[in-house]
Amino acid sequence: MKISDILSENKVTVSLEVFPPKLSANFDNVMGAIEKIANLNPAFISCTYGAGGGTSEYTVKISKNINELGQVSMAHLTCVSSSSETIIKQIEDIKAAGIENILALRGDIPEGMAFPGTNQFLHAIELVEMIKKIYPEACIGGACYPEKHPDAVDKNEDIKHIKEKVDAGMSFLTTQMFFDNSIYYNYLYRLREAGITVPVLAGIMPITTRRMLERSVQLSGTVVPARFKAMVDAFGDNNEKMNQVGIIYATEQIVDLIANGCTHIHIYTMNKPEIAAGILNNISALM
Ligand code: FAD
Repeated sequence: MKISDILSENKVTVSLEVFPPKLSANFDNVMGAIEKIANLNPAFISCTYGAGGGTSEYTVKISKNINELGQVSMAHLTCVSSSSETIIKQIEDIKAAGIENILALRGDIPEGMAFPGTNQFLHAIELVEMIKKIYPEACIGGACYPEKHPDAVDKNEDIKHIKEKVDAGMSFLTTQMFFDNSIYYNYLYRLREAGITVPVLAGIMPITTRRMLERSVQLSGTVVPARFKAMVDAFGDNNEKMNQVGIIYATEQIVDLIANGCTHIHIYTMNKPEIAAGILNNISALM
């Protein structure tokens, strides 16, 4: 099923993101966690694509397995660190596996890589154009950044490029994580003002360790509200307490989003079924 059809149903949707193992020896463990996540019956499950090789070989396999578990899957695909031949092959594999949804991404530029280089896709829009050629029936989504993409000159320039990639054929967007909903509301207003009308899934990251928060901030530069920082300062050294804090803070964000009419939520599960289950349990009556 296409995600665009799921999102058009005018109801609250919660989708979940998983990632493939780094080592083949861990494949069964990871797939076991993904099966538990699939049992939660989300709107769909997306599977990330490792930057610069690494775990990318499993994305199609896992997405296909998710479909075989009776769930809708979406395969992420990045382009900046692959040759066009590799990208074409990946799209053909996704199509052959019967995966109907693709999250088209540029990917982060690996350290030390010449950018722009030769024989290289520079932006996600070029990947969208290639998918449209090879697999025109696919439903394509993309990424967006409420606090601006780190490489972008400013927010207006960033939104201008989001509009271009949506116009090239993206049916929906998923946001980078944020911990302050007012940032998302403000961003959504700016996207709509720029004429971007597609659904914008709110990306929610349940933070369950202090290290995870530090890494998230380092990667995405997201603002951490003082209220949340105080919670992590108080409980960050205790796993059990932090799991509960992560579930509660994410739940609060989601309840506020739904109450304000933002009905499409995407949870970064980090392959932790118990965390995703805790959140879904908390909001079961709202769905
Ligand atoms: P683009 O849309 O290409 O934008 C990248 C930058 O280029 C922005 O600053 C934009 O303003 C600018 N830009 C865009 N078009 C143009 C243009 N025509 N001219 C000039 N500038 C332009 N990474 C992975 O490796 N694997 C994953 O599975 C993965 N999943 C993700 C899922 C989500 C929901 C999100 C939010 C991010 C994900 N990422 C993933 C990270 C993502 O690959 C990086 O953030 C990457 O740096 C940008 O990807 P993009 O598709 O947003 O790029």
